[in-house]
Amino acid sequence: MKVFKFGGASIKSAAAIKNVATIVQQFEANRLLIVVSAMGKTTNALERFVWQAYNHQNYTSTLQEIVDYHTLIIEQLGINSPAFITRILNQFENLKTTASQPGAYDFVYDQVVSQGEILSSLIVNEFFIQQGIPSVWVDARQYLQTDNTWREAKVNWEQSQAKIEGLKKPLQGKVIITQGFIGGSETKTTTLGRDGSDYSAAIFATCLAAESVTIWKDVPGVMSADPKRLPNAVVFDELPYQEAAEMTYYGASVIHPKTIKPLANANIPLLVKNFDDPTLPGTRIHRCKIYKLPPLIVFKDNQCLISCKVTDYSFVNEQQMGHILTTLSQHDVHINVMQNSAITFSFCVDYREPKTLHLIEALSKNFEVYYNTGLTLITIKNYDNSTFNAYRNQPGVLLEQSSRSTLQVLVRL
Ligand code: ASP
Ligand code: MG
Repeated sequence: MKVFKFGGASIKSAAAIKNVATIVQQFEANRLLIVVSAMGKTTNALERFVWQAYNHQNYTSTLQEIVDYHTLIIEQLGINSPAFITRILNQFENLKTTASQPGAYDFVYDQVVSQGEILSSLIVNEFFIQQGIPSVWVDARQYLQTDNTWREAKVNWEQSQAKIEGLKKPLQGKVIITQGFIGGSETKTTTLGRDGSDYSAAIFATCLAAESVTIWKDVPGVMSADPKRLPNAVVFDELPYQEAAEMTYYGASVIHPKTIKPLANANIPLLVKNFDDPTLPGTRIHRCKIYKLPPLIVFKDNQCLISCKVTDYSFVNEQQMGHILTTLSQHDVHINVMQNSAITFSFCVDYREPKTLHLIEALSKNFEVYYNTGLTLITIKNYDNSTFNAYRNQPGVLLEQSSRSTLQVLVRL
């Protein structure tokens, strides 16, 4: 069996959902488990809604926007089964009660924001049935088991494996539609973190020992750079798991960072394909050796360079570095690149207000701290001479670092 994942952009309108049905019909329309995200930008809208509801602000227009968007798509898909419409109306109605239940914000967030995937999967499933696709709706919360670290739940692999195995039987003659991003801990809903649907697809695939996972996207495959930034970017035909995992580490947003590891361990190929043109070959991420990959360039914007300078004319020592790293970990801040000199320890992090400012404040107790925001970290993996020179010598470089395969420059563009 295979696993397909369709993200928000691939189901953002009635036309897009029709295209998904066509893609599915082109494949063996059974023995397929389909993981869907919320439609379009629904997760962002639900985030706004839960924030407003939790803080007793007026959420009427935000909620209405979510309701109208889904209702229009249902109409345009020609779905009019009264039982189905009643079910969806109930889902809308429940959003208000779910958002007003007592509990910590992150807990309520998971209960509410997960509804985007519940809605999208119900709609896609209903449309598939209408199109004669033998599909069944499966509630991922009953199968993908997690702990209750709200908004970033950790997968309980053993429990998930035991439950997901139960899907092997229905998969023999059916297409299963389920939700990405969400899971269940005992009786509550959890989420795996933003953009977590790719990871969900990898979890289902691993537990089912799938033949492959295909992530359907709006790009022709994994590319050597963001084509919006570098129009001469090329599509990779194939990539080793390790290379793909490192790309996500450096900030390439094509696949969620947690997706590769379980698939690599189970030796399940990951295909990245284009939903606008399924005939394109896309990229195959699998166990392979490639001797000469073209340079891969990843841009990470909104970076902040923080420099901690010792104040007493001594040099930066390991104890001080230890203190800095502990402070970073206490503030749950991740370093993207770091460098030390005689009297300063500098590092670059994603700039997030107020988190980064709290970190700077804490570090200022022991160091003279300087920081610059609005920077871009450019990583060039597998550089060649010309890319190395071009990126290194560009104006505005604040920090650079290179190894035998990778160059990183932090610049003000
Ligand atoms: N719908 C969720 C999000 O937008 C999960 C996903 O799309 O992967 O973050
Ligand atoms: Mg998404």
